[in-house]
Amino acid sequence: AFQALVLRQADGATTASVETMRDDDLPAGEVTIAVRYSSLNYKDGLAITGKGRIVRNFPMVPGIDLAGVVEESRDARFPAGAEVVLTGWGVGETNWGGMAQKARAKGDWLVARPQAMSLEQTMSFGTAGLTAMLCVDALERHGIDRAREVLVTGASGGVGSVAVALLAKLGYRVAAATGRPEHGAYLRELGAETIVPRAELAQPSRPLASERWGGAVDTVGGQTLVSALAATAYGGAVAACGLVGGADLPGTVMPFIIRGVSLLGIDSVRCPIDRRTTAWRRLSELLPDGLPGEVVEEIGLGEVADKAADIVRGAVRGRVVVKLPEH
Ligand code: NAP
Repeated sequence: AFQALVLRQADGATTASVETMRDDDLPAGEVTIAVRYSSLNYKDGLAITGKGRIVRNFPMVPGIDLAGVVEESRDARFPAGAEVVLTGWGVGETNWGGMAQKARAKGDWLVARPQAMSLEQTMSFGTAGLTAMLCVDALERHGIDRAREVLVTGASGGVGSVAVALLAKLGYRVAAATGRPEHGAYLRELGAETIVPRAELAQPSRPLASERWGGAVDTVGGQTLVSALAATAYGGAVAACGLVGGADLPGTVMPFIIRGVSLLGIDSVRCPIDRRTTAWRRLSELLPDGLPGEVVEEIGLGEVADKAADIVRGAVRGRVVVKLPEH
C-alpha cells in the first residue's frame, strides 16, 4: 500500500484528498517508480482545484513531475535501482502522476537523473525549470541583441524565477515584470537588473511601441504577450510558454512584418527526449548548485491542496517541491 493525492469528482466539483492505494490500483506501464519528490506547477494547480479542464478521467493522481528510484522494470534502459525523472507526457493529466509514493510509467517518458543533480534538485526545477531552459535555448538559437534587456514576465513564479536566473547567468541583462513589487529584492538577487510593474504590460499597447527588449520569455499571454511583442527590437524574439493572464492574443502582425520579430512557441509536455536531455544537462551546468534556497519551498502531500489554490491565484513565489516519504 502507498499514499497518494487523489482527485475525484463530485457534483461537477473536483475534490483532492490523501488516500491509501494498493499497487494493483496503479495503471499499466513498464516501469514502477518509488517516487521521492514531485513538484507543484501552475498546471497542477489548475488540475487540483478543478479550475482548468486539465483532468477528464477520475480518479486521478495529479503531479506532472516526478523523480524517484525504479522499483520494477520491463525496460532495459531503466532497471531496478535506476534514478529517473519524468515531466510532462500527460502524466498528472491523463495518466496518473507524481503526487504519490508510487507511479507507473512508460520507459519512453523517462530521462535518467542528470549526473550533476540530486533527485531533489531535479524537482526544484521540474517542468517550470525545464520550460525556462527551453525558452532560453530557443532565444539563443534565434540570437538576440545582448546590448538590450531581455524581458521575463510572471517573473516571481516558477518558470519566471528560473528564466531570470538562467538569463543572468548567461550574461544577459534581465528586466523582470512582476505584479508583486514586494518581490523586487528577490528578483534582483536572482539577477534582474530592472523591475517592470506588471500593469505596464497589461494595458492595450500601440501595434509598435518603442524598441526596448532584445527578446522576452512570456509566461502570461494575452495583452502582456502582445505588449512584449510590440516593444521587442528589430529582429528579436519572444518565447511564449504560458497563459496565466489569458490564452488570447489581442494584437496585430506589425511586430512580425515591420520589425521581423519572431514568436517562438515553447512546449515541454511532448518535447522530444534529445532536446529534454540536453536541456536538463544545460540546467545542471548553468546552475550547478541548483536554485538558491529562497526560491524553493518544500511541502508534504497533505499541504498540496492548499498550495494548489495559492498557485492558481498567483500567490506562490518561486518553486514548490513535494517530498514523498520513503515506504
Ligand atoms: P507560477 O509559478 O504560478 O508563475 C506564474 C506567475 O505569473 C505568478 O507567480 C505571477 O508572477 C504571474 N501572474 C499570476 N497571475 C497573473 C495575471 N493574472 N496576470 C499577469 N501575471 C500573473 O506558474 P508556473 O508554473 O511558473 O507557470 C507559468 C505559466 O507557464 C503557466 O501558464 C503554465 O501553464 C505555463 N507553462 C507552460 C509550459 C509549456 O510547456 N508551455 C510549461 C510550464 C509552464 P508575478 O507576481 O511576479 O507577476
